[in-house]
Amino acid sequence: MNTALLRELAAVLPSEALITDADVLEAHRRDQAEWAPSGQPLVLVRATCTDDVRAVLRVASARKVPVVPRGAGSGLSGGANATDGCIVLSLMRMNRVLEVDPRGLLAVVQPGVLNAEVKAAAAEKGLWYAPDPASWEFSSLGGNLATNAGGLCCVKYGVTGDAVLGLEVVLADGSVVRTGGRTVKNVAGYDLTRLFVGSEGTLGVITEATLKLRPKPPRATTLVATFPTLSGAGLAVTDIMARTRPSLLELMDRATCRAVEAYKPLGLDVEAAAFLLARSDAGGDQGVAEIEAMARCCEAAGATFVTHSEDEAEGELLLTARRLAFPALERQGATLLDDVGVPLSRIPELLAAVEGIAARREVLVGTFGHAGDGNMHPTVVFDRKDPAALARARAAFDDILEAALALGGTITGEHGVGVLKQPFLGRQLGEEAMRVHRRLKGAMDPLGILNPGKVC
Ligand SMILES: Cc1cc2nc3c(=O)[nH]c(=O)nc-3n(C[C@H](O)[C@H](O)[C@H](O)COP(=O)(O)OP(=O)(O)OC[C@H]3O[C@@H](n4cnc5c(N)ncnc54)[C@H](O)[C@@H]3O)c2cc1C
Repeated sequence: MNTALLRELAAVLPSEALITDADVLEAHRRDQAEWAPSGQPLVLVRATCTDDVRAVLRVASARKVPVVPRGAGSGLSGGANATDGCIVLSLMRMNRVLEVDPRGLLAVVQPGVLNAEVKAAAAEKGLWYAPDPASWEFSSLGGNLATNAGGLCCVKYGVTGDAVLGLEVVLADGSVVRTGGRTVKNVAGYDLTRLFVGSEGTLGVITEATLKLRPKPPRATTLVATFPTLSGAGLAVTDIMARTRPSLLELMDRATCRAVEAYKPLGLDVEAAAFLLARSDAGGDQGVAEIEAMARCCEAAGATFVTHSEDEAEGELLLTARRLAFPALERQGATLLDDVGVPLSRIPELLAAVEGIAARREVLVGTFGHAGDGNMHPTVVFDRKDPAALARARAAFDDILEAALALGGTITGEHGVGVLKQPFLGRQLGEEAMRVHRRLKGAMDPLGILNPGKVC
């Protein structure tokens, strides 16, 4: 069967597209979610065009072989993890920006283009592609779309799904569907674009995307504040969101600041319980008024230090500190990264719950994230050589998911369900919604070959 499958793939694909080298397969076995299970792929296909993708899915359908679409492999939920005997379908060689239309405010791109490359192509025409996951320099647009990636500026400009006008998608049987279009408004039929965005490669393979661009906003002013308590920072966040429109509102707790300072010293206060980073890009008088209002919110919530800077380089340095949060925590030990979201009014309760869980389970938790979206990444750090520590870390990870659900929140704000959070999805959605998920999956992928075991 394996040889026959490889022969059939070889008959319809360029020879350099098929890779069975053991080391390369090993490198394509999993994403960055270290503790999510993964299987052994049979072959890696590096598609270079939509026809390659169609050919793979036709062969896979005929032989009922699983196909795992893969972008840059930077995912944090095991979404791109291989299943035994699967075809890993890499889209990274489909990496062209096909068009930037400055008057239509859109770009057409292939899925293997990096987020940073879309931003650069837009910037060449004086425009801006807004979505900015912290992985923007190395994650692909296909992966961003398939996970509906968030990021730092979502608090004002929305997530990846808010920046998509249309898609080209290859379905499980190899047929091609185009969704949406180039218009800003479009309500013709069901919103298939939204269905594929965030579907984590389980409903189709995205081979092209038409993205919304914007004029670049004015230069941002950056505010920083430190707090003696996490709950104080949480209160400041809810207050800032109720009174202003920050273009960024991020939080890091003490454990995270210490990890960042140990990794790359940037002068963060490692004694403060929480560090808040906010921005306004409103510009002019409105920008000044927003920053002043944010500062008042911080002071009223008990901040011990509040300052702001209009200097772009200084603002970027502070953003670097935030972007280093996860890599810095990873250097402290093995990590289990949560991605929970709660309604804005419940952020202080979430932060308190995470502190309680860390104490109860006797684990170190570094908490950082997109506080203005209520989307936090409590990250359990532990010694990978100690089985008891792993057990406590797993229990803390699950407790944090439970805490988010108890606060009316979600088990994932932006990283996706993948395999890591799959056992919890039913708890959040309920049986009826899970049934709808399974019916949709059955209708789109009746043989169940597309990224099996992920999402539902
Ligand atoms: C340091 C770091 C910081 C991060 N920060 C953020 C952040 O701020 N916000 C955020 O949302 N995420 C973040 N992530 C997670 C990750 O970068 C995103 O989930 C990203 O969107 C994944 O893109 P990728 O190209 O690596 O996709 P992969 O990891 O390869 O795949 C992700 C999922 O998409 C599917 N997929 C990939 N391409 C396609 C396609 N063309 N068609 C259909 N399905 C496809 C895969 O099957 C898988 O389910 C971070 C990760 C790291 C390591």
